[in-house]
Amino acid sequence: MSLGRSDYDIVIVGGGPGGSTAAYLLSKFGFQVLVIDKENFPRPKLCGGLLTYKTFRLLDRVFGETESSLTDKHILNFRADHYEVFYKDKPMVKKHVDIPFLFVDRKIYDSFLLEKAREAGAEIIEGEKVKAVDFSTTEVVTSTGERFRSRFIVGADGVNSVVRKELFSAGRVDAHEWGRNLATGLEVFVNRDEMIKAIDHPTLFFGFVRWGYSWVFPNRDVIVVGSGSLNAANRSDFLKSFHNFLSFLNLNTERVSRIAGHPVPYGNFLHKPVSENFLLVGDSAGFVDPITGEGIFYAQRSAELAAWAIRECAHNNRNLETSYLHLLHRHIYPELVYAKKARLPIFTVFERLGYYPVKLLLDRMGTEAIELVHGLRTYKGFKKQGEVDETISF
Ligand SMILES: Cc1cc2nc3c(=O)[nH]c(=O)nc-3n(C[C@H](O)[C@H](O)[C@H](O)COP(=O)(O)OP(=O)(O)OC[C@H]3O[C@@H](n4cnc5c(N)ncnc54)[C@H](O)[C@@H]3O)c2cc1C
Repeated sequence: MSLGRSDYDIVIVGGGPGGSTAAYLLSKFGFQVLVIDKENFPRPKLCGGLLTYKTFRLLDRVFGETESSLTDKHILNFRADHYEVFYKDKPMVKKHVDIPFLFVDRKIYDSFLLEKAREAGAEIIEGEKVKAVDFSTTEVVTSTGERFRSRFIVGADGVNSVVRKELFSAGRVDAHEWGRNLATGLEVFVNRDEMIKAIDHPTLFFGFVRWGYSWVFPNRDVIVVGSGSLNAANRSDFLKSFHNFLSFLNLNTERVSRIAGHPVPYGNFLHKPVSENFLLVGDSAGFVDPITGEGIFYAQRSAELAAWAIRECAHNNRNLETSYLHLLHRHIYPELVYAKKARLPIFTVFERLGYYPVKLLLDRMGTEAIELVHGLRTYKGFKKQGEVDETISF
């Protein structure tokens, strides 16, 4: 399909879960797609690797992959059917769950998705950084000076997105919303034999950081230990709190991997991440749950919506801004907006009142909260199961 004199129909900057999902779908729709990523895959990505049920529904809907097919292909590396929550050292909840928590190693997961996009027909350039966007010609410019022209440009280049910064500098997207609500995620990887007890389920800890939480997640070969919380609420205490958490787990920092950190957009999602033929998906638009920090689903879901919006624009001559915003307002913003409103009372209760009220809350609403995480109910329609709308219409 040709859409004029452009070299490509769509150039996607970034080949993480967001970029690969958009590339896969757009290639399947018949467009000529180029993905450019600064890394060579497989590349490491700091992450807990937890995938929720709503992500599995998307993987099935978009890629035709199921839990069983992904297990056979060694993409899933751990399955847990219960979880635990602590307030500092005090246990609060330990529950069995009907829908399991599934874990991936991002190096493998991201590579798998990018391969899917390649098989669908997308061209992929690895190891080349995009350093600028030329709005007048709809081109991206890479660090080697190469220019790639296309009709649409998708920024899927993560939380430090160059495409977003370019849209900010050109005054095309409002930068005002971005600065506040950034968080930091810190993680170490621990060999299983360094842990005092065998870890076979995810465990969350409140009370070690403010406006956030800490976690111990099982993987097949290693245990992922991390903390994520709002920068503004923790300031310089962040690393110290993480060391306290590691000491609490009896982990010697010399026997775990080096502490690594990465920013997380934690409630600073953009309200208009689109301008003419340029749009942002995933972390680059700040699409991460402002309470749980879940971002893989939102990266892939916004990419799915972006692909449909581009298709609608190219095939039916609809305006891209209107189409993408219509889908975001229907499927992404209600969740992020309600979660952001809900987190003030939630974290205030956690921090001011401590153990007993939180335990009471989790005892009463633990099952609903897990269903919410998995996408079986929404923040907005919390009281009712099955409010989730997966259809795409304009
Ligand atoms: C410590 C931590 C733990 C987390 N744990 C979880 C979890 O358990 N579950 C969950 O759902 N989410 C988790 N998240 C969030 C999740 O990792 C992100 O939301 C998700 O990776 C976003 O996907 P993306 O495709 O938008 O961006 P990314 O995954 O960041 O991919 C962006 C891609 O763009 C490339 N890129 C960047 N800049 C350029 C450039 N200039 N030119 C070319 N390429 C470029 C990068 O190399 C990268 O491949 C965690 C985050 C952190 C920091």
